[in-house]
This record gives sequence, C-alpha cells and structure tokens, in this order.
Amino acid sequence: MHSNVKLGKSNIRINPVGLGTNAVGGHNLYPNLDEGQGKALVHAALDAGINFLDTAFIYGIGRSEELIGEVLTARGDRDKVIIATKGAHQFVDGQVVMNNNPVFIREQLENSLKRLKTDYIDLYYLHYPDKETPKAEAVGALQKMREEGKIRAIGVSNFSAEQLKEADSDGYVDVVQDRYNLFQREAEVTLLPYTREHNISFIPFFPLASGLLAGKYSNATRFDDGDIRLKNPLFQGDAFKQNLEKVELLKSIAAEKGAEVAHLVLALCLKIPGVDAVIPGAKNPAQPVENLKALEVELSDSDIERILQAF
Ligand code: NAP
Repeated sequence: MHSNVKLGKSNIRINPVGLGTNAVGGHNLYPNLDEGQGKALVHAALDAGINFLDTAFIYGIGRSEELIGEVLTARGDRDKVIIATKGAHQFVDGQVVMNNNPVFIREQLENSLKRLKTDYIDLYYLHYPDKETPKAEAVGALQKMREEGKIRAIGVSNFSAEQLKEADSDGYVDVVQDRYNLFQREAEVTLLPYTREHNISFIPFFPLASGLLAGKYSNATRFDDGDIRLKNPLFQGDAFKQNLEKVELLKSIAAEKGAEVAHLVLALCLKIPGVDAVIPGAKNPAQPVENLKALEVELSDSDIERILQAF
C-alpha cells in the first residue's frame, strides 16, 4: 500500500489516490443512486488499497456518512482508514445556510461521529465559510476538538485565499480542499502559493471535472433529471463541445502512455506542486480500483507542459 503522503503538519499518512463519496448515498446530488452499489464501491476501494475516504454531512444529508459507517463496522478496520468529513450546512426553515459557529460545528461533529460509528474523525473540514464567524475563531474551535482527541487534522474548503489566511492565522490548518482540474485551474494562482508556503496539503475536488475528464462522454451523452452536471457550465452547449475536443487531445497522450484518460488526468493532478492527494468520485466498484492506476503513470516535465498547453 502507498501510504506515503503526509497531510499538512499532521502525522496522518495516506495513499495519495483516495475516494470521493458524494455518490455514495448522495441522493440530493445524483438521481437513482443504489446504496448497495455505493457500499460495494467503498469496499472495493478499501480492498484495493485506497485508505482515504472523503465524505460530508451534506452528501445525502448524512446518508453518505451512515453508509461509510456501516461499511467500516462490517469490515472492523476503522483504524486502517483515514476518514475526512465536513460540516457547515444548516437547515433553517427548509433553507440551507452556512454556519461555522463553534457551538454549531461541535454539534455537527458529534452527529458525524454517530453516523460514522466512530469516536474520532481523522480530518474535519469547515465545508464552506459563513458570513459571520471570524475564521480564526471557527478554526480555533476545531483546534480545541483536536486537543480533545475528537479530530486529528483540520481542513477548510471553498475558502478564498483571503479567508484562508485569516483561518490559518494560528497555523492550525492542515488541508485545503477546493475545485481544481484541467479546465478550472484558478487555484494555481489563488490558493496554492499560500498552501505550499505554509505546509498545507491541497486536495482538489472535481479532479475529473465530474467525469468529463474521464474520457467517455460524447456529444450524445445525456444526464438524468436531477443530475448536478446539468447545472455545471462545463457541460452546457458549445462549451461542452469544445471541452470534449480537448479531452480528445488527452486520449492520444494517454494512448502513448498505455493509460486511460482518467488515470493520466489524476496523475497530472498529483504532479502539480502542492497537490498531495486526489479524491476522484465513483459510481461503481470498478472505478476506484481503476483509478489507482494513476500511481503507475509516469509523466515527464515535457508531458506535463504538453497537457497544460492543450488546455
Ligand atoms: P470527479 O471526481 O471529478 O468525477 C467523478 C466521476 O467521474 C465519477 O462519479 C464517475 O462518473 C466518473 N469516473 C470516476 N472514475 C472513473 C473512471 N475510472 N473511468 C470513467 N469514469 C470515471 O467529481 P466528484 O466525484 O463530484 O468530486 C470528487 C469528490 O470531491 C467528491 O466525491 C467529493 O467527495 C468531493 N467534493 C467536494 C466538494 C467540496 O465542496 N469540498 C465539492 C464537490 C466534490 P460517471 O460514472 O457518472 O461518469
């Protein structure tokens, strides 16, 4: 197993290819999800050597965490798995608002522990910033929970560079999770300069651009009603067509390497300075197992340059 990457300043080591689980019980994000399939894909990932699971309260409003808790209980190997989860979403009168208030975050964390059937969480993220809570105060509350042994590392997600600096003013942040993929590379100039300088691991979400960079969609691909990709600008009209043409370019480079496009793309993410791990999502048990092949793709500096130029 490749547990060779350290998360920020913590002592947690992981395989750099993890598993994103927003399609494991994430019924509010994808239609027609089968929970048995979701649990099977978590089992398959862990069996194959993945040891880093990324979930959140909002994925299925607790359901993703519950299913992961069931899988880990059945396997009896909680201590071998690094669990990352996130909180901040609060339902007020049927509407979702973000809340980083220390009292609310503690309540969220306690609920996540119950759903995951565990007494500690390895990496706990503030999923989104809120408008009111001073960022350092919210992270300070997580630091207290770390001192109590309830969490082992602290993350923030969807924070701007400015918000990150404020959140990390005491140096407690270990991981930043934000959008990054070949189509959407803003983090290279916004967040990565800070995370690299302060020994914070950067973990991209949507590394495969929600499947677009896995190389199997075409102009004929249709998504079911309720699929979040129907709202994603990368998947609309002419932009979708142009993006598919770029993916075609990747296919030839992947073929030269004897790799699939998805593995080439994940390998490239791991080569971006400051990116320590990837958490591609999956809809079936074959995908996470396949995605471990990213660790075998060798990319030279000129390969990387060619790919980045094409985008
Ligand atoms: P993603 O990783 O960019 O794309 C995953 C999708 O790509 C899969 O659901 C599957 O979709 C397809 N895929 C995966 N492996 C493949 C393979 N080997 N071959 C072909 N297709 C493959 O998008 P994501 O899952 O939305 O994001 C990754 C994770 O990041 C999430 O699971 C979640 O844990 C996290 N996330 C966090 C935030 C945040 O705010 N912090 C936001 C979004 C996501 P199909 O089979 O449908 O094509």
